[in-house]
Amino acid sequence: MKRWKFRHRFTLLLCALIFFLLAPDGSANPQQLSQDNTPQPSAQLPPRHEIPPLVTGTPEQTRTEQYTLSHERYEKAVAYSRAGYTLYFLSYILGGIFLFLILRLGIAARLRDIAEGASQKRWMQGLVFVPLFLLLVDVLDLPVRLYWHRLSLHYEQSVQGWGSWFWDWTKGELVSMVIGIVFVLILFAVMRFSPRRWWLLFWFPAVLILLVLVVIMPLVIDPLFNKFEPLSSQHPDLVASIGKLTQRAGVPIPPERMFLELASKKTNAINAYVTGLGASKRVVIWDTLIQKTSNDETLFVVGHELGHYVLGHVVKGFLAGAAALLVALYLLFRGLHWALDRWGREWKILGAEDWASLAVLLLLLQVLLFFSSPAINWFTRTQEHAADVYGLEITHGLIPNSSEVAAHAFQALGELDLSDPNPPQFITFWLYSHPPVAERLVFAHTYDPWSKGEKPKYVK
Ligand SMILES: [Zn+2]
Repeated sequence: MKRWKFRHRFTLLLCALIFFLLAPDGSANPQQLSQDNTPQPSAQLPPRHEIPPLVTGTPEQTRTEQYTLSHERYEKAVAYSRAGYTLYFLSYILGGIFLFLILRLGIAARLRDIAEGASQKRWMQGLVFVPLFLLLVDVLDLPVRLYWHRLSLHYEQSVQGWGSWFWDWTKGELVSMVIGIVFVLILFAVMRFSPRRWWLLFWFPAVLILLVLVVIMPLVIDPLFNKFEPLSSQHPDLVASIGKLTQRAGVPIPPERMFLELASKKTNAINAYVTGLGASKRVVIWDTLIQKTSNDETLFVVGHELGHYVLGHVVKGFLAGAAALLVALYLLFRGLHWALDRWGREWKILGAEDWASLAVLLLLLQVLLFFSSPAINWFTRTQEHAADVYGLEITHGLIPNSSEVAAHAFQALGELDLSDPNPPQFITFWLYSHPPVAERLVFAHTYDPWSKGEKPKYVK
């Protein structure tokens, strides 16, 4: 449901392609920074059934026709968003510079020497090299992340204390190291086995590992960072209402696949998402969403998520990601040889299967990811729009005044999450995983195939 995400470095560098494969709304990424938020005591919030209109218009204005913010909120949303964009680009540029310096100053070669000195066995060397190298990269990236968390606290988006934040960072490091070791050990074994075809041969185990990760993400990884409860335990009424939606969709989601995330411990933002694959496929709703929006608005958001669920967006994302991974691996293969032919001696890297070449691969991957951001985000924006259409259609007729409810849900989303009221077009193109909130809101209250005698797109 969210607008754009400031992605996390190590996950990004490590298993970059996982992002194609991640759940729509990106929240399967436990380090998604844009969901961080601060201390706005929830006691001050209006009770959920009496939430006043967030629109700051004339009193007689009852329709939410535009995304509108109070002057103070507007300034905050713009400043917070701009800071996020700046950090996004800065983090890529700094990451690139650091990796370049790690190569140029012979640090990658030094780490390789340490690893090779530790053992004769290749896999043991990998167990030394990969964690050391990843830790170095992530420590260098830490200042940007610290600054972002500070901003999130300042703008009252995050309510997560520093101790808890660092603990999450540490857990993230451990998870990424485990995943990184598995990937890199297999990659380098394949490289040694087939120096000319490794990009193709490695694709098969890589896709398999990513598939396993997508399946176990909600079961193993997400619970490390957030608490989840069955939605039915606290909100049986909501489960019953969702049941009506899913029944209408013809795709019943069993109540045991609906979860409540206790996000309010860390954030003021509101969100919901679909994650997992096969046995782990599920809808997750943040408790903040239920607390801060009306029942009907929550239901519309669930309708949007239902769209992701029914339209198979996780599977489609996975397939697109797998295809893109093959292209990426080929480009990495070509790029690695090109770079080593030129600078290998200077960087003291002996060949492609030298552990130190991992730094070259990550640098290339970083460049590749950066320039493919517009394509990736175009893909997710398309899915998000489809889910919006679905949400509008599935709630039409079930919720009174459903298009106004949807529009107001976007107003609440934008206001609470400090969404940029008017993001520059280039920024939307480059890094928005969702259409801007203002556009989604306008679409919500203008989409009306029913009165025009047209057929709805998904829900007939
Ligand atoms: Zn979505």
